Amino acid sequence: MPDCLFCKVAAGQIPAAVVKRGDGMLAFKDINPQAPTHLLVIPTIHVASLNEARDASVLGAMLTFARDLAQEQGIAQRGYRVVLNTNPDGGQTVLHLHLHLLGGRPMTWPPG
Ligand code: AMP
Ligand code: ZN
Repeated sequence: MPDCLFCKVAAGQIPAAVVKRGDGMLAFKDINPQAPTHLLVIPTIHVASLNEARDASVLGAMLTFARDLAQEQGIAQRGYRVVLNTNPDGGQTVLHLHLHLLGGRPMTWPPG
């Protein structure tokens, strides 16, 4: 998708602090971190939001990628949070499907 920010990150057209790539997924550091570990996991193909996701294997791959990433980042044991914002009420600001992987501090509930 030509004007999509995260498609450009996936294509290397916009610099990002990439931490893991593979299995059609890319993980990079969030530019405005909300926790000591705050990574974004995106599929390298364009999907606008969870509402548009048609391929369950992509969703499964995102979750297992985030789970493995948490292990590699050393936050799995203490715990972490995976967040998937969808559309305006969900707080989604970039219309390319992504998971937030947050860890390194205790999380609070409920979310804002
Ligand atoms: P969301 O609000 O769920 O759509 O999340 C979008 C996230 O992308 C926010 O947490 C932003 O801080 C992050 N973000 C926006 N632009 C960039 C960028 N160029 N590189 C890394 N993270 C970004
Ligand atoms: Zn995109």
